[in-house]
Parts: sequence; C-alpha cells; structure tokens
Amino acid sequence: MNIQNRVSRRGFVGGVATALGYLTVKSPIDLWAQGRGANGQPRPRTTADEYDALAKLANNENPYGPPESVMKAMTQAFKYANRYGYPDGGITEEIAKHHGVKPENVMLGSGSGEILDVASATFLRDGKKILSAQPSYDIVFSHLLSIKAESIGVPLLPDYRQDIPAIIKAAHRHYRSIGYVYVCSPNNPTGRIVTKDEIKHLIDNIPEDLPVLIDEAYFHFVDDPNYETAVPYVLEGRPVIVARTFSKIAALAGMRLGYAIAPRDLLQQMRPSSTGSINAVVKYAGIAALKDTQSQAQVKRVTLDLRKKTTSDLQGLGYSVIPSEANFFMVHLKRPVQPVVEEFRKKGVLVGRPFPPLVEHLRVSVGTADEMSRFMVAFKDVMANPPVKAATNGAHH
Ligand code: PLP
Repeated sequence: MNIQNRVSRRGFVGGVATALGYLTVKSPIDLWAQGRGANGQPRPRTTADEYDALAKLANNENPYGPPESVMKAMTQAFKYANRYGYPDGGITEEIAKHHGVKPENVMLGSGSGEILDVASATFLRDGKKILSAQPSYDIVFSHLLSIKAESIGVPLLPDYRQDIPAIIKAAHRHYRSIGYVYVCSPNNPTGRIVTKDEIKHLIDNIPEDLPVLIDEAYFHFVDDPNYETAVPYVLEGRPVIVARTFSKIAALAGMRLGYAIAPRDLLQQMRPSSTGSINAVVKYAGIAALKDTQSQAQVKRVTLDLRKKTTSDLQGLGYSVIPSEANFFMVHLKRPVQPVVEEFRKKGVLVGRPFPPLVEHLRVSVGTADEMSRFMVAFKDVMANPPVKAATNGAHH
C-alpha cells in the first residue's frame, strides 16, 4: 500500500479544492479510521450477552426485528440451506413488480452496502472520484481506500440540507474527473431529505451522462410530501441508480439484502463487480417483507412518535436537533462528540460515531421506548459532567 504517494496526491488535490473555496477532497485514509479504536485497530466484538444488554442506538437498525410473516418465510426457506439450485421465489421479479420496472433493471446485493461498493468499483476506475455532499454515509468513502479512489465533498448548507446548486457546479467544473455522484436522501447522518424538485434540478442540470446514485435506504421513514423516489428517472432511461435496502424498515440488517434499480446498460457495467452471493433465506424474507406493508407502517409510526418525543425532550433541555425524516436524528452537543460516545458506551448505550465536519453533533438511532428512556437517562448524566478532554491520537478531530 503506497500511503506516501496517496497522501501527497491528496495534498495536491486538497490544495486545488481550497483554492476553489467551496468543496473539499477527503482522503479515504481519514475516513477509514472511523469505526476503529483510537490506535486504528478494529474494535473488539462484544460477547453475545454483553451485546444483548446494550441499548443499540448506533446503526439505525429496526429494533423490533422482522415481523411474523417474514420469520415464517425465512423458517420455510431453511430447507434450502444445503442447496445452490433452489427455487428462489422470484425475488428479482417481485422487486421489479414492486417498482414497476423490468427484472433487467434490478440488481441484488448483499445489503445495499454491496451495491454502493459495486458502484464505486465500476465508476471510479482510472482515478475517477465520487462527488457527494459532506458529511454523508461515511462507509461509501471508507470503501474508497481499498480501490484507491478519492472523493470530492460539497459542504452542507447552514440548515444541514445538501447544497444541490453547489453539487451541480462541482459536477461541471470537475466533469472529467468525476465517476459518479452520490446523493443520500434522507441523508445519513443528518436525516434531512433532498426534495423531489431538488433531485429533478440535479438530474436535469448535471452533465447528462454522469451517473447519479440516489441512496434511499431510509425512504420508508419519510413523511414530507416533497419527497419522492427517484425510480421514475430510471424508467426515463436517465443514468440514475436507486439503492434500497431491507436492513432498515424491514429489519433484515443481519441477513444482508439490498438492491439497485437502474437502466439496463448501467447495471450491465456494474454486474461484473458484484458477487451475486445472496443467501436463500433472505431472498424469501425479502419477498415476504415487500408484501407486509402493514408491519412496516406500524414500525414507521412508532419510530416517528419516539423520535418526536426524544427530540422534544432534548430541545426541552436546551439542545438543538437537526430536523430528521429518518429513524435517527442528530443533536448538537456543543462539545466534541467522540468522548461523549465513549461515556455513553460505559453506560451500556451505543450511539453514533462522529461524522466530520459535524464533530459536535451526536447521531442517535431511534430504538424502542425502553432504549430511548435509557438514552435520556444517560444523556442527562453524561452532559451534566464537564467535557472529557478528547484523546489526542483520536482520528476524529
Ligand atoms: N446506505 C445508507 C445511507 C445506510 O445508512 C446504510 C446502513 O446504515 C447502508 C446504505 C447500508 O446498509 P445495508 O448494507 O445493510 O443495506
């Protein structure tokens, strides 16, 4: 691994970015450090008992688990555990039907994380960069390390929305060096959406052959009527890739299933980089989950109610919260977030990692009512104490 080379290259591109004034280029090396211990080592896994006892508010999961309909489908599919050529229930066709597209417009992934990895492996060849708002879903950028690619980051607006006009401007200015544009909506970590009008403005105004990946992982939690899926652009044949996951509303994070909806030619470019390795059980789970809209509506309702309650409680304590349309939110701590995350951990509550440059905002997933009560107790406790000095070798500040 030629770190020296990449660091000096980063210095060069960073210099150009500084001169332009409105965007930043982030080295994957910095981002890769997130999710690791202070010395760069992987964090040790907790034991099963320890894990079960934690309030898990760090990964935007569905805390209730799959509904009965999905559990039943998975149980029945276990009989295929020893097979390759099993009937897979037509998961690709079911997803296509769900979105009104053809099966050729669907690519399955082992989680939508695989879709994002495949997009980067496909479109970031020959030194091409990903263009995105910053911060956004950091794992996309940490994957760049392994493929030796870089990103161009456009800062958020003061109200934490994505700056679509600045992304359009950057797309034109850096057209030759950009492999694809990544738009996460609702954005992880802020929870803010890009409206349907903004998506249209983006797609209509960037160079017409530049692929845009719209990550709709949190689609199902949105209430704002100005939000819409970008799938219709795929039907128009625009170079748009919509990524979806069964990990959030459908509670299948541990089972790994996501997919892309995109024009056939884009998927043809992407397919060689995909493993195509999806387990038998989750294929049946996905089919059942697509049909169980009632359970998903229930999860959405209880999640939004708990989000509202917790954010009002925090505001009552004098903390501002970024308005979210997802199953998580960000609270402004007015102090560095990393030591606070560690303090929460000591109290058995897992909360989100830092998302530079928002290093004083804590991302909190909406868990069960019990988990949110535990969060509030821990929050009052942790924040009542003076800030702990951040470790100097931490990668986040
Ligand atoms: N996209 C976003 C915005 C996410 O927040 C996540 C997970 O947290 C993913 C994609 C990947 O999820 P998975 O690989 O479980 O589908």
